[in-house]
Amino acid sequence: MGKTFVNLDMSVQYLKGVGPRKALFLKRLEINTVFDLMTYFPRDYEDRSHIKLIAQLRPQENATVQATVIHHQVLRTRKGRGLLKITVSDGTGDVVLVCFNQMYLKDTLKKGMTIILNGKFEAGPSALQITNFMYEIIGEETHDLIHTGRIVPIYTVTDGITVRFLRSLIKRTIDQAHCIITDCIPGEVSRRNGLMEYYEALRNIHFPESFDMRDKAYVRLAFEEFFLLELGLALRKLRIEKIHKGISYSVRHTLLPEFKKALPFTFTRSQVKVINEIFSDMRLSKPMNRLLQGDVGSGKTVVALSALLLAVENGYQGVLMAPTEILAEQHYMNISCLLESLIKCGKIRIALLAGGGTASKKRKGILARIQSGETNIIIGTHTLIQEGVSFDRLGLIIIDEQHKFGVMQRALLRQKGVSADVLVMTATPIPRTLALTVYGDLDVSTIDELPPYRKSVQTNKMSEDEAYALVRDEVDKKRQSYIVYPLVEESEKLSLKSAQVMADKLQKGVFKGLRVGLLHGQMSAKQRDIVMSLFVHGKLDILVTTTIIEVGIDVPKASVMVIEHAERFGLSNLHQLRGRVGRGTYQSYCILVGKDRSPQAKRRLQVMLETNDGFKIAEEDLAIRGPGEFFGTRQHGLPNLKIGDIVRDFKLLKIARHEAFSLVKSDPFLRSTQNQILNERFLHRFKDTMNLINVG
Ligand code: ADP
Ligand code: MG
Repeated sequence: MGKTFVNLDMSVQYLKGVGPRKALFLKRLEINTVFDLMTYFPRDYEDRSHIKLIAQLRPQENATVQATVIHHQVLRTRKGRGLLKITVSDGTGDVVLVCFNQMYLKDTLKKGMTIILNGKFEAGPSALQITNFMYEIIGEETHDLIHTGRIVPIYTVTDGITVRFLRSLIKRTIDQAHCIITDCIPGEVSRRNGLMEYYEALRNIHFPESFDMRDKAYVRLAFEEFFLLELGLALRKLRIEKIHKGISYSVRHTLLPEFKKALPFTFTRSQVKVINEIFSDMRLSKPMNRLLQGDVGSGKTVVALSALLLAVENGYQGVLMAPTEILAEQHYMNISCLLESLIKCGKIRIALLAGGGTASKKRKGILARIQSGETNIIIGTHTLIQEGVSFDRLGLIIIDEQHKFGVMQRALLRQKGVSADVLVMTATPIPRTLALTVYGDLDVSTIDELPPYRKSVQTNKMSEDEAYALVRDEVDKKRQSYIVYPLVEESEKLSLKSAQVMADKLQKGVFKGLRVGLLHGQMSAKQRDIVMSLFVHGKLDILVTTTIIEVGIDVPKASVMVIEHAERFGLSNLHQLRGRVGRGTYQSYCILVGKDRSPQAKRRLQVMLETNDGFKIAEEDLAIRGPGEFFGTRQHGLPNLKIGDIVRDFKLLKIARHEAFSLVKSDPFLRSTQNQILNERFLHRFKDTMNLINVG
């Protein structure tokens, strides 16, 4: 008997047959503890449960047989190396095992032993033979079959660890762990959803009794992951509401009416709806945690401004944070315009806090005015809060994000003692799955229509020359164009055209006589400002650029977006880039130039040609990239799921979320006795990634 262990956190090193060396190899598979080992799930299965008769086998067949060893033949030996042939028979026929450099098998597979044999059988000189095979000895103390004669798990392994070793180790560990494994899902929840018991599930995910049982095990284990994840979100949401005392704003009509009057348009029905949702949150005394989603160009900025003005009306300061400097600058310019009259009469004092680090005199002045409360609307990047800028009365934080401000960052915000209202805006619509996970602690408002008189952007694939001709036509109509390249500078390796080189080439060549500008991220903020403002004021016809202009930038007269090497951009990039045109009342065009090199690239471009609907695009993007890449789990501070897949298992995710939220409602601190195991498992599973939940 090997060592028996007492807890799931014990290092695998102390398991029988492991030791320090193997433990290092296992570490590469991220298997450190007994728990890690038991939750190292198979990547696939092989059905070796159907035992065939040798007489029935055909050459090239992959099959499993049960046979007895009848004969050994050593053909060549050189220092124990050589060729060994072992003949086995099941009474209906013989098979020869051809073993190169495996002389030890002579002693392992002794004459008279019965074995289960699996692999690909081939025609041999006299009988069928097999070279690559799995075997298992059916001994006297008959234990469960592990490697053959059953549905066998296949694991991803690494140097130093064989599948066979891992399989045996996991089997032994699971058998031994029987008495220490407890089911953390409350009985009622399990019964309601017909879930398999936890130990059963662990056993059947690794060593399924049948594929049906494997499926049930999968559901149970994925459910648990989702359930714990959603529990975290539910706890977080509830505690923020309980612990942080929020601000109750009231609508005072001192700034908002003037703002609305000055706008050149009226709000859409959707904008009115979400503004009402936001305002009713802000009126309540619990802090707002809301997600505002709406497709590009749906008009989120004025919604954000309305909320900022409500905060200012109540004597608070509001912050708007953008993911990049250039976007913060753009917001600043844009908002300064929209609030012009309020700024002129001194009711609003707005500041741009850009370029962190430099303790310039100007910056010091801005910081001082923020601290004194003189400045009431502050615009900056995501680092604004982390930098420890001090405010007089910070009441509202708006985060204009691009899938970059996840649960973790929001938790940090709260940890800094900020009890302000938080509104997260996304430029890319969020697939439903992410709305339940990465953003699962937020209430959601959706703008689901575009401002009227917008013509939807026409998307086409064209050759470069056709694209240039279109650009010229549009310039003749006094419109402007963007031409986007994936890179700033030419790269030898990739042989892609770059913004820098092409700007020059186009100016001197096809677009001679037109005004061509260049904008990219390696330019200083000041240079960028100059170029951007030339373009905004119609003093450039064509802006050659990179994805730097992807988000937020708003130039109504721009009617053409040419994307060069379009196959190199992700779907959400492409959609965002397209969102830069069609913002005025003109017909606009998005032109994709490039070759679809991979099937994935082809599909991306196809989706772009088919739809303008950001929600559909987000779902497609998620489907193409898979959740891991799409939402960069780590970046968002969500725990890595080992088995569940938020896209594939969306239904299960929804059920788990519902169960988790109702559980937290009835037992907000998981204190009741029947939730004790759950509480422990929760802390165990998420102690690293989600400990912020327990802050406060
Ligand atoms: P996004 O949601 O992508 O941030 P913006 O807030 O930048 O969109 O708005 C896109 C454009 O639509 C801007 O030029 C804005 O002034 C304009 N806009 C916003 N709301 C309306 C509306 N209700 N009617 C007409 N134009 C609007
Ligand atoms: Mg925007």
